[in-house]
Amino acid sequence: MSLLQSALTRLEEAARVAGVSPETLLILQNPEREIGVHIPVRMDDGTLRKFRGFRVQWSSARGPYKGGIRYAPTVDLDEVQSLALWMTIKCAVADIPLGGGKGGVEVDPKKLSHAELERLTRGFARAIAPVIGPDRDIPAPDVGTSGETMRWIADEYGKIVGRPEPAVVTGKPLNAGGSAGREAATGQGGLYILQALQERLGKSAEETTIAVQGFGNVGYHFARLARAAGHRVIAVSDSRGGVAVNSGSLEPEALMEGKKATGELPMPPQGKRVTNAELLEISCDVLVPAGVENQITEENAGRIKARLVLELANGPTTPEADAILEKRGVTVVPDVLANSGGVIVSYFEWLQNREGRVWEEREVNERLRQTILAALKAMQKLKEEKKTSFRTAAYAVALTRLEEALRG
Ligand code: NAD
Repeated sequence: MSLLQSALTRLEEAARVAGVSPETLLILQNPEREIGVHIPVRMDDGTLRKFRGFRVQWSSARGPYKGGIRYAPTVDLDEVQSLALWMTIKCAVADIPLGGGKGGVEVDPKKLSHAELERLTRGFARAIAPVIGPDRDIPAPDVGTSGETMRWIADEYGKIVGRPEPAVVTGKPLNAGGSAGREAATGQGGLYILQALQERLGKSAEETTIAVQGFGNVGYHFARLARAAGHRVIAVSDSRGGVAVNSGSLEPEALMEGKKATGELPMPPQGKRVTNAELLEISCDVLVPAGVENQITEENAGRIKARLVLELANGPTTPEADAILEKRGVTVVPDVLANSGGVIVSYFEWLQNREGRVWEEREVNERLRQTILAALKAMQKLKEEKKTSFRTAAYAVALTRLEEALRG
């Protein structure tokens, strides 16, 4: 099943549970607009190469389109469409006045020089400039892009419209109109959710063991914050594999320092190396997929030992795996809620830019906590009423809100 097919399957199932009209479902089954672009880029050796890019605008029913831009060699229209649909659901679950979109460029950013990446990004910004804007569609970083990428887009867009427009993108560096707390927001939001669900685990934070797959922006900040809050982070991994400990905890900040120095996760004291497949099946209380999609599948779902799966990556669990986990009593907190901290603080960044204000990190985090916990509460209420999974409940909450917006 393709990523988009699984996203649509979940949408259809939730539409039945939410009782939304067939017309609402019909409208939300396709994007409002999708554009494909070819970006010519002058490489450092003087040759010209072309890169394929996409921007998909799924729904503006609740506000301007909002969604990240991904740079990866595997990017294709199906992936970007799925991510745009998920953004639509995510913004509605978080109850922020934004729609859903997503973008991507088929490129391995590690294989381009810094200058080539800048030229590619500026070229992509020019190509999508006619369809983005602070009131129209607001991109942000995702896998393979960063605050610097957003700064280049904001700068290029500003040149096109002839005035500074920092609110055209979010996830910018602090000195370019970014928000305090944005970089760690997805991990921070995930931790607020975990803390709210701690009771379900029947143990204290100090007794709770966590394994994190993916040690990039999201996985690192989550692991760092969870450790600081007292949890035991017993395994982490990146695309090359992972490290784990049998007792005590890993120290995420030290691991990141080591990784920055050598490019590889350093071996912790009394630690061992694990593969990504082993990490998913490790004995722990909470499993946090925070890397890429399709990691928990029909094949390995029966061997997952965690009692709670907190999906910080987008789409890490296939629908077949969902069914197996549900039967086994494993709680899955779905991506559209668990990782919504990023887009919630992106919304705060956009608000600050538009109001010409700067909020302190404390204020950002407190508003994030309130927003994400309100989303969790709405989802839990519907879950109890309809006796369904967290994921279906989240989609159903979103669909009900989207239907109200579509009715106008
Ligand atoms: P990133 O590029 O900073 O980090 C990705 C991490 O995953 C890296 O450590 C990479 O080595 C690792 N990885 C890649 N392939 C892997 C594999 N096969 N197995 C294990 N690890 C692998 O990206 P990010 O911004 O941290 O995003 C991670 C996930 O979170 C993505 O699914 C993204 O869509 C989602 N997400 C990100 C944000 C955000 O604010 N950045 C918000 C919501 C959701």
